[in-house]
Amino acid sequence: MLSTLPLSRRVLEMEESSTLLMAKLARNIAAQGHKVISLSLGEPDFDTPEHIKTAAKEALDQGYTKYTPVSGLPALREAICTKFKRDNGLEFTTNQIVVSNGAKQSIANICLALLDEGDEAIILAPYWVSYFEIVKFAGGVPVVVHAGIDQDYKPSVAQIEAAITDRTKLIIFSSPCNPTGSVFTADELSAMAQMLGRHEQVHIVSDEIYEYINFTGKHVSIGTFDAVKDRTITVNGFAKGFAMTGWRLGYIGGPEWLAQACDKIQGQVTSGATSFGQKAAAHALLSDMTPTWKMRDAFLHRRDLVIGLLEQIPGMKVNRPQGAFYIFPDISNYFGLSDGQTTINNADDFSMYLLEKAYVATVAGTGFGDSNCLRISYAASEEQLREAIGRIAEVVSKLS
Ligand code: PMP
Ligand code: GLU
Repeated sequence: MLSTLPLSRRVLEMEESSTLLMAKLARNIAAQGHKVISLSLGEPDFDTPEHIKTAAKEALDQGYTKYTPVSGLPALREAICTKFKRDNGLEFTTNQIVVSNGAKQSIANICLALLDEGDEAIILAPYWVSYFEIVKFAGGVPVVVHAGIDQDYKPSVAQIEAAITDRTKLIIFSSPCNPTGSVFTADELSAMAQMLGRHEQVHIVSDEIYEYINFTGKHVSIGTFDAVKDRTITVNGFAKGFAMTGWRLGYIGGPEWLAQACDKIQGQVTSGATSFGQKAAAHALLSDMTPTWKMRDAFLHRRDLVIGLLEQIPGMKVNRPQGAFYIFPDISNYFGLSDGQTTINNADDFSMYLLEKAYVATVAGTGFGDSNCLRISYAASEEQLREAIGRIAEVVSKLS
């Protein structure tokens, strides 16, 4: 239907975000009166901490209702510099920071700024859905380097190096990772940095939006390694660690020339992010982080609960993710099986089977670059998680 409309090739060739699509399907089924449990969207179920909401209300009262500089309020960019130094050991000045309407826009800005038609972007898979489409949208060629559950979903340095060509302009990955929850260790990041250091044409886009939901203790930024520190763009945002998805606030720290390019693009497309939200975001970064650590601890507890329940389902292959709030089981054991009505041929079939028969929304791994897997977001209450995994176990037991 779309292809008969006078739309650009760029849009016709773009896939709809599978995370957002699944959230929409789940809402539709719920609207028909079914009790759907949504484990599809990557969104903390917690509310934004009270002191951050209060800061936004105060900012409104103080008149923060006007346009801000395109790159963000100076006070927020200063707070981000403080945060980068305090949490990550990264040194930036405010003219190296650009605040955007979500980390999604930050990533789009970077890709639009770096990629010319035909330039290659290495994407470590499983990857967050939008990397692939944003790279394509910017005219780039996605080059996927994949690792399965046997590698804890982390491609090796040798695999990555083998994918680098003269046209490789950037590499992008998230750690902690959406959709797998995997975290690269300091040694793994160091080895990756040493290797990338030898390939001067490659820029590193390190998406650290799940930084604060890291169960290993210490988050490590690849930008701290000398070999790549001048070529790394660190992406972060407020959505996950501060439960601020709807506020639409993300940011980058990177080379000044790139920040200027992002500012230029954003200045023509959206301008600066919401003024009073930025004021509250500055407050969030410089305030007591206890609410964030409490959310992290709750996620850790839920991770163990979900793994324990999933491991009891015959055929489900699960690893133990070290961050974010996703489990990414390999569900390929069910391919070819049927409940007598529906045959499961792939991850999309399996995800739809769970939605239609168990009323549990998940996301097929296909959109994340792994068609053997299923993403389960455990950003839901323990009660909902128990109920959902119970329902999954029940419908899976009908497959033979
Ligand atoms: N990167 C990753 C890995 C994500 O999971 C998300 C989803 N929230 C984003 C970026 C985009 O974040 P935002 O909501 O700030 O646009
Ligand atoms: N990033 C979240 C997810 O992966 C939110 C939805 C989206 O922006 O894709 O589910």
